[in-house]
Amino acid sequence: MRMKDQVALITGAGRGIGRAIAEGYAREGARVAVADLSTDTAAEAVDAITGAGGEAIAVAMDVTDEAAVNAGVARVCDHWGRLDVLVANAGIQHIDPIDQLDFADWRRVVSVHLDGAFLVTRAALQRMYAQGDGGCVIYMGSVHSKEASPLKAPYVAAKHALAGLCRSVAKEGAAHGVRSNLICPGFVRTPLVDKQIPEQARELGISEDEVIRDVMLKQTVDQEFTTLEDVTELAVHLAAFPSNALTGQSVVVSHGWHMQ
Ligand code: NAD
Repeated sequence: MRMKDQVALITGAGRGIGRAIAEGYAREGARVAVADLSTDTAAEAVDAITGAGGEAIAVAMDVTDEAAVNAGVARVCDHWGRLDVLVANAGIQHIDPIDQLDFADWRRVVSVHLDGAFLVTRAALQRMYAQGDGGCVIYMGSVHSKEASPLKAPYVAAKHALAGLCRSVAKEGAAHGVRSNLICPGFVRTPLVDKQIPEQARELGISEDEVIRDVMLKQTVDQEFTTLEDVTELAVHLAAFPSNALTGQSVVVSHGWHMQ
């Protein structure tokens, strides 16, 4: 058990990558707060964890809502008395060329990724600094924190910006023993990606199979999707890492799509 008795809060953990990390952390002995838009969207993940003998609570938290974020972090600390690990994972996608992109869609995507990451970070750091025994912050970036693809400008811009927030937290958090790192996955088959395949096929005028082969997996070394297990293993590794040596880094897990 690499995370025994640690308390972890994961945003957007009702499904997809966040849920996989929540279940992985629980298997490693952590107590897990599954935060999502509502307790209903978090309930299935909580049931899966508690059903397997782990400890978890559902937290309703729209990460773009300052009051909801502060209340959600307070709820976790009221329940378990502390917070050790934050995974800022909640995210959305929007597919459109820049010249036709509505300002409202730009703001929505940037707000969930970047405002959301800032708000949960601030609330978590206040707790971690007060506890005085360090902590760990993990951001869910993407290969799109490193490079661009067409039709995803707000997502690419926000994911690049998370690298800056991650490094800022690493610099400021060091004095308090708080580490901060960015996970950068390639494409993982989740509802977020499944929704994009027909959207991109329409925008690019190609088939869905061609989107997968020629757009999503073209630059990988083996034409394979990254898996939930791959990302979860990295998230456990970063959370359980025993010293401040590993901080301010972005770690790419993408079947070689991006090599740094
Ligand atoms: P997903 O759509 O399957 O899950 C996202 C979760 O976030 C959902 O449970 C949703 O309810 C929640 N959410 C959305 N808006 C929210 C908000 N405002 N407040 C709180 N929760 C909110 O997506 P996923 O593929 O699991 O993606 C999770 C993260 O991983 C995102 O940050 C995404 O950008 C990133 N990522 C995904 C991939 C991929 O290929 N799937 C690749 C790289 C990075």
